[in-house]
Amino acid sequence: MSLVEKVAPRVERLSLRTPTLPPATETNTYFVEVDREFYVVEPAPSFDEEQAMLLEETARRIGAGFRLLGVVLTHHHGDHVGAATAMHRAFGAPTMAHRETSARLRERVEVHRELDDGDVLFDGEVELTHTPGHARGHLCLRDRARRWLIAGDMVASVGTIVIDPEDGGDMREYIAQLRRLADEGAGTVLPAHGAPIEDGAARLRHYVAHRLAREAKVRAAVARFEARGATEDEVVEHAYEDTPPAVWPIALRSARAHLEKLAAEGEISVEGDRWIAR
Ligand SMILES: [Zn+2]
Ligand SMILES: [Zn+2]
Repeated sequence: MSLVEKVAPRVERLSLRTPTLPPATETNTYFVEVDREFYVVEPAPSFDEEQAMLLEETARRIGAGFRLLGVVLTHHHGDHVGAATAMHRAFGAPTMAHRETSARLRERVEVHRELDDGDVLFDGEVELTHTPGHARGHLCLRDRARRWLIAGDMVASVGTIVIDPEDGGDMREYIAQLRRLADEGAGTVLPAHGAPIEDGAARLRHYVAHRLAREAKVRAAVARFEARGATEDEVVEHAYEDTPPAVWPIALRSARAHLEKLAAEGEISVEGDRWIAR
């Protein structure tokens, strides 16, 4: 039985186990094919067995007469690039990513071709969109005519998207890019983790609403402490009281991302380790 499954016109998915953030346990690799030429998006697996499965599936296509044009990285995270070097060694096709991704991967993965917003693949059939926020170099791939969007880690069907300022995460950018993708009409959204999302624009808008609801709680948590100001731990305790304390260390990073957004928008200020409402 093949593990490869068709998920949209011209797109097939191979989901393989990766060292990703629980509850997700796998990352999707997408094969995008037009007229017997193809790209591999997200050479994800780093474990030997899964990497072998990806190489085997790619070799099978090449053996059947299809030409591999390149391997595209949506961003630099370890659960997305584990097989990048192995794929290049095996097949020689260029590894392609945004320059910010390339900069972050230096010494780990060599990027041969830089991609940017508005670049196209297959003579324009597939378009690249630069969507920073989760990662500075994050790219999505869109086929407007066939209405699908390979969304990387902008959204997920399994697990949550972490916005970590220590790793280039930026909540303002992230929310702005979610809106942009929704406004441009996403069609079927193909995330890096989990199943395809049929009404992609609705899910993107839901993500925006969810983040803004959390932001309101963060703002309220800061206001609660008035002039004394709130520490990040206090913000997490009050703004994430509906989540299990086990995830608070991760929530802390998202809380910081919300705090930085609110500060950038002039709603709060920071003094030492305290965040203060204006
Ligand atoms: Zn990621
Ligand atoms: Zn991921």
